[in-house]
Amino acid sequence: MSPSGPEVIKQIRSQVDEVDPGDVNRQLGNGAVVVDVRETHEFEAGHLPGAKHVPRGYLESRIEGAVPDHDAHVILYCQTGQRSALAAHTLKDLLGYRNVESMTGGITLWKDRGYDVDVPKALSAEQRERYSRHLLIPEVGVEGQQKLLEAKVLLLGAGGLGSPTALYLAAAGVGTLGIVDNDEVDLSNLQRQVIHTTDRIGVPKVDSAEETIAAINPDVEVVKYPVRLDASNIVEIIEGYDVIVDGLDNFPTRYLLNDASVRLDIPVVSAAILGFDGQLSVFKPHDGPCYRCLFPEPPPVELAPSCGANGVLGVLPGTMGLLQATEVVKLVIGEGDPLIGRLLLYDALAATFTEVKVRRDPDCPICSRDPAEISDDELGVFPDYEAFCAAAG
Ligand SMILES: [Zn+2]
Repeated sequence: MSPSGPEVIKQIRSQVDEVDPGDVNRQLGNGAVVVDVRETHEFEAGHLPGAKHVPRGYLESRIEGAVPDHDAHVILYCQTGQRSALAAHTLKDLLGYRNVESMTGGITLWKDRGYDVDVPKALSAEQRERYSRHLLIPEVGVEGQQKLLEAKVLLLGAGGLGSPTALYLAAAGVGTLGIVDNDEVDLSNLQRQVIHTTDRIGVPKVDSAEETIAAINPDVEVVKYPVRLDASNIVEIIEGYDVIVDGLDNFPTRYLLNDASVRLDIPVVSAAILGFDGQLSVFKPHDGPCYRCLFPEPPPVELAPSCGANGVLGVLPGTMGLLQATEVVKLVIGEGDPLIGRLLLYDALAATFTEVKVRRDPDCPICSRDPAEISDDELGVFPDYEAFCAAAG
């Protein structure tokens, strides 16, 4: 006679390492990966702080997305400790995870002991459908989507780079998009600035961008800054944003942005384009080099691509802008390896990507110092821009 269901469960539980909620509580944040294997509605009603969510029915297909390292210390839990014991057995015996435990008594015992529970804000039925492809990947999920909806991202420029970035960040559900741009839509923009349309020539770019974003996703609030970024307004504008997307086209403002963002400790996802060539990096203050570490001196005037009109392949800002948008999403949801301390070079004609390591300069005039000591007068100190470009002829 085959053993009964309860007998099988009892037998499996005897082979699984079980851990008391008190031990789990002491280990939170100490390197153990805590995974909730319950159904989505159970997870959303409240879960252990920092827990990842992999429903037991999707264990085999999704656990490696949530826990790529098979040697990681994994603690599974469910409502009462039964489903997690079965899941622990699967992880160990079938999937080759070597250090797996199941929490005794599940979240029920956890709550009885009075430990902390995180209750995520629920998504509406419409949001659930709109972001369903995000909810299906464990690196985003409901929690990542909530982070995106709560995120404030500032776009410097609604031009070549800012257009594709804004479109995709809006579609992804970034809740607040600030846009700084004092230009109007021009016919010559439309070859690459895909957020604008032919019937909006002459319209301020911030208004045109807002209209397109509203049509894509009503979850997104657009904050418009129809101004030119300078030393007098930069701190006021960027303060309070989680990530800044740098689509600036000139060096002086890039130095200014760098200095202000280091002072306020805001990461900047920066891209530059010229002809068929693109560059990309993430400047996260004090975690990696800043823009001045990478470019201590502005380029020679004759090589500065910031003075006047330059040619660019219309598709290129799309490529680079979407790489920027990807880095923004990673920073917001806290997944993956952001491009910090690395400069990515894209050669569209050759179809090659090259990566250059960039180190922090221990003597950097900005990021080597206590941010509180960087005064207003020091922000963006740079040769006078007009004179700089006038010299370029
Ligand atoms: Zn630096």
